Amino acid sequence: MRKPLIAGNWKMFLNVTEAAELAKTVCNSNIDYSKTDVMLAPSFTNISVVSAALKSAGKPVALAAQNVYTEENGAFTGEVSIPMIKSAGADAVILGHSERRIIFKETDEFINVKVHKSLGAGLTVVLCVGELLQEREAGVAFEVVLAQLGKSLAGVNDLSKVVIAYEPVWAIGTGKTASPGDAQAMHAVIRGFIARIYNNSAAESIRILYGGSVKPDNIADLMKETDVDGALVGGASLKADSFLKIVNY
Ligand code: PEP
Repeated sequence: MRKPLIAGNWKMFLNVTEAAELAKTVCNSNIDYSKTDVMLAPSFTNISVVSAALKSAGKPVALAAQNVYTEENGAFTGEVSIPMIKSAGADAVILGHSERRIIFKETDEFINVKVHKSLGAGLTVVLCVGELLQEREAGVAFEVVLAQLGKSLAGVNDLSKVVIAYEPVWAIGTGKTASPGDAQAMHAVIRGFIARIYNNSAAESIRILYGGSVKPDNIADLMKETDVDGALVGGASLKADSFLKIVNY
């Protein structure tokens, strides 16, 4: 049985004070952690304060960075390394988000290096994949997503610390959600792919989150689908009220 995971991607929002406050509010609310895992992904500058808030509340909330660089240290102005995010308190990292792929031109090959290095450092990886609207309309959504997965996971043998997030690009921040049926169809194809490339046990245990305009009013229907194991939530994770309604769907 896969335990649902609800992850909040705070993107490039919230200052230090706001991030700490939001983390505290999430921690002070009633969440049944035996039923749902929760993860927060603040920006780099807010990882430390969120980590402190989670520790002082003593709640089992995972803490993810939204990206990371491949090298440990060096002359890479503006980049942040895996040891840095770990020392700030992160135990996970989101990789391959479509905003990284599209705006910052990250390739599957580059994401694959980050996946290897992050897993090698003991981090949980939330690997995002998803098709563009044109690709869905052209009927190639499955091929596109499986190609992203295959390349991003190339050479990765152990999926025990990998979470996949299926995020159709046309649904991110647009208010358009994939129908539960469309999400389920893609999630089933992803799980089938994992079964073929790895084995049935890896396919049965890996969590596949849906992301793309998840809100309090659509989470329950998405979660009814067999292969939807949780959600990666952007906009609606920035307010405690809506995020907590999603967590407690
Ligand atoms: C995201 O940032 O991964 C995301 C799914 O955003 P939103 O929920 O705002 O569509």
